[in-house]
Amino acid sequence: MQGLVTRPGTAHSTRVAEVPVARAGAGQLLLRVLEVGVCGTDREISEGVFGVPPDGDAELVLGHELLGVVDRDGHGFSRGDLVTATVRRSCAHCRACEEGSPDSCLTGDYSERGITRLDGFARELVAEDAAQLIPIPRSLGRFGVLAEPTSICERAIRHARAIGGREPWQLERALVIGAGAIGMLSTYLLRLAGVDVWTAGLESRVDLVTACGARYISTKDVPLDTLREDVGGFDLVIAAVPDAQVMAESLGLLRRSGVACLLGIDGRNQTVSIDGPVLGVDAILENRVLFGSVNAHRQDWLAGVEALDRAHERWPDALETFVGLRVPLDRFAEAFVYRGGKATLVL
Ligand SMILES: [Zn+2]
Ligand SMILES: [Zn+2]
Repeated sequence: MQGLVTRPGTAHSTRVAEVPVARAGAGQLLLRVLEVGVCGTDREISEGVFGVPPDGDAELVLGHELLGVVDRDGHGFSRGDLVTATVRRSCAHCRACEEGSPDSCLTGDYSERGITRLDGFARELVAEDAAQLIPIPRSLGRFGVLAEPTSICERAIRHARAIGGREPWQLERALVIGAGAIGMLSTYLLRLAGVDVWTAGLESRVDLVTACGARYISTKDVPLDTLREDVGGFDLVIAAVPDAQVMAESLGLLRRSGVACLLGIDGRNQTVSIDGPVLGVDAILENRVLFGSVNAHRQDWLAGVEALDRAHERWPDALETFVGLRVPLDRFAEAFVYRGGKATLVL
């Protein structure tokens, strides 16, 4: 059986290799993998800057964005059912994980499929705990491969609503910075909820932005502080770009009681700056909040899949072109460098 393996910590070690044939253990189902989405996390692991192999192993099977099909009836699933699976698993010794929220793990000892201490899904067959499976409706079909990134956006918006909702607050206007998969899926979720959305990006998948009624802003042409002045500030800013300076500036793009959520990762050693009065005056006098969000709770997976299905029904043409590149496992390198939307590996 073939799988996409890498040696975490060693750049350019990713390759297609023979991996042990998966067999379902107690409480598990055997899945046939149809498609695996790739993202910046896979790229970083492949470049040797991220990722941890399973205990006692030097190599890690990649892939955390699964679309699979159940191979045999069991645990309430039937052969042929489409499914995806959660990524992060309990550390088994913190309050958050005990309460079923490994997305809020308090120790960092969690494991994550295809990322941290747990082999991933980029292989022909995988045995998965039935409790970790999320059903994908037939109507959504292969777009179910977007469930994982959608769950990330769903959690971010759920948390933003909880934070904003600690006081009287209305989510009317949102700015999404970054038009990659996370930025675009956040845009769709907000549009489904009837929010006015401005989506700012450099790479112009303008078609994907405007299809759902959001406004596209080219950050090359329009500085974001100018946009803030024109619009009057935002109730929510989602910063889905790998740029800590942009993340810091998002606090200044809010209006009263606004909430800014950080979803990009920027690990560069650098100092970023923020206008003194934005932090020292506006953030206080206008009750603004800046927070980060990672991973997703099971409820976000379920809500995300349901929302994706509605988005697919409402903007079918946009969803059709969302995955811009589908290649077989041995062409993974093309998928890793692809910049025109989502790329997936087809098993
Ligand atoms: Zn991902
Ligand atoms: Zn934990």
